[in-house]
Amino acid sequence: MTARRGGSAVLPGPAGWADPERPRLVLVDPATEAPRALLPLSRGAEVAEAVARARRAVGTGDRLAILERLIGEIEARREDMAQAISQDMGSPIDFARSKQVEAACDHLRATLNAARTMETVSEIAPGGHEVAYEPAGVAALVTPWNWPLNQVALKVGGALAAGCSMILKPSELSTGAALIFAECMQAAGAPEGLFTVLAGDGETGRLLASHPDIGIASFTGSTSVGRQIAAAAGANLVPVLLELGGKSANLLFSDCDLAVAVKQGVAHCFRNSGQSCNAASRMLVAREVYGEAVALAAAEAAEWRMGAPAAAGGHLGPLVSQAQHDRVQTHIEAALEDGARLVAGGPGRAEGFARGWYPRPTVFADVTPEMRLFREEVFGPVLSITPFDSEEEAVRLANEGDYGLAGYVQTADPARQRRVAAGLKVGMVQINGRSRAEGAPFGGVRQSGHGREAGIWGIRAFQTVKSVSGLDPL
Ligand code: NAD
Repeated sequence: MTARRGGSAVLPGPAGWADPERPRLVLVDPATEAPRALLPLSRGAEVAEAVARARRAVGTGDRLAILERLIGEIEARREDMAQAISQDMGSPIDFARSKQVEAACDHLRATLNAARTMETVSEIAPGGHEVAYEPAGVAALVTPWNWPLNQVALKVGGALAAGCSMILKPSELSTGAALIFAECMQAAGAPEGLFTVLAGDGETGRLLASHPDIGIASFTGSTSVGRQIAAAAGANLVPVLLELGGKSANLLFSDCDLAVAVKQGVAHCFRNSGQSCNAASRMLVAREVYGEAVALAAAEAAEWRMGAPAAAGGHLGPLVSQAQHDRVQTHIEAALEDGARLVAGGPGRAEGFARGWYPRPTVFADVTPEMRLFREEVFGPVLSITPFDSEEEAVRLANEGDYGLAGYVQTADPARQRRVAAGLKVGMVQINGRSRAEGAPFGGVRQSGHGREAGIWGIRAFQTVKSVSGLDPL
């Protein structure tokens, strides 16, 4: 993987990548803005060939044995994975090691555990009435750059355990981890065609999602591309699982431990430089403690530092690309135009950086539902804070906007915990900073998508259901 540092070198990969006729994308180092490698892009012929091979591989191999060996292979390649992620998308190396890679391993183990408890056939009534769960066929998996291994692991774990064969089109900005993943799959003994990585861009993804011989498509990324994939696959009546964007609210009631809640809330917005679909990017705070919370958040944000991906430590890394940096700057400018009160950070590059896509960790207070920052996903380290006067208003504000991925609730009152959790129109609710249990479903509602990843839900999502009645005893 180290060869990828060469500016004009083609990323090492499968046979055919060095073919000069292949279209290529210049990859840029997010920390230095220097070209670092060329990514070959797959087009129609490669997509068609991968789908044909994958069709022959549906249902082959001992899925759970492969999955178990795959986990071992990935664990053995942890450091390679972390380095690839850090170089590709700018994740600080310690974060890549402790979070990006470990989250993926955790998800794969949870999927394996879930798969071992699941039936492939369940008897629903005596007298030969059964329901069979069968692989949905060739699974087309399209993933983004922000959690490059984790998102692959969530999809591949579920699809593999379900019995599908898989074609992965990782983000053009973070292909390194996917290529190592493919090597791990091979080392785990996956049969020919069971798992293929198609390096490429949006056009590659479009060609894959619109191929008539795929059985299911699963996408994580922006809501706009999610719509395009749903339309492309929908033209062939291929089902689609969508894990899209978010603008998740973090509700701080006056009975919470405010210092802890604000510190955790800022971290939950800023971590991964804000490039997480479930970032707690909208802090809603009870009026009684609002002033204190804003002051705490401003002070906390000022403590966060940007730093180089390769440097050890708990800093934030650069954003993935110039496009992402420009997008974040546009959101900050829009918040200023709309009259939000800047209490930390602001426009421009972080202090001390003349190059690289380093934004300033930023906090806006007094953000109202009319402002763009209240509704639009920034995907950068930009927190908005809004006061509320009652529990009803807090839930109403949280449900404003189009997204419905996650909700975070900080309150010591068990009855309120349940009321608010029930009132939030989201796919996931986290109370007082306690993370989802192993194997719990991940996904959203409304414009945040549909379908679930992880655990038994992530496996069933890749299966079709067959109802069989009237079987005579064997
Ligand atoms: P994107 O949605 O454009 O790309 C994600 C993946 O889809 C990539 O692999 C890309 O090559 C592929 N793709 C692009 N166009 C396609 C098409 N027409 N058909 C099939 N595949 C296609 O994400 P991005 O450009 O990397 O980021 C843009 C915005 O998306 C971000 O600012 C952020 O708001 C959002 N985003 C959300 C998530 C999430 O986890 N919810 C992840 C990444 C990005």
